[in-house]
Amino acid sequence: MFWHLMKLGLCKKCPRCGNANLFNGYLTVRPQCDVCELNFQDIRSDDMPAYFTIAIVGHLLLPLIYWAEVNYHPSMWTHLSIWIPATIILTLGMLPSIKGVAMGIVWYTQKT
Ligand SMILES: [Zn+2]
Repeated sequence: MFWHLMKLGLCKKCPRCGNANLFNGYLTVRPQCDVCELNFQDIRSDDMPAYFTIAIVGHLLLPLIYWAEVNYHPSMWTHLSIWIPATIILTLGMLPSIKGVAMGIVWYTQKT
């Protein structure tokens, strides 16, 4: 069940039926599922997606930043020009899918 919820969440699909999208646009949660009529407004993931995204992006990028610094000693401007866009792109790219996973986990823990 856990991996199924992870897969549905990563695809931003309804955690109960898996056939409808969770979001309108980037992060706006739909009122309910178009197929099974699950009320998405009751699935409150709050800040969990942001915390998970920060933790994952930090664990992905910090070793790379450290590796680049130790091996190549790039200038501060080189660091900033690489790692700030990488952080923004990864964060904005991962946040909707992580929010989908968080909503699936919250929905599963609420129903049981
Ligand atoms: Zn549904």
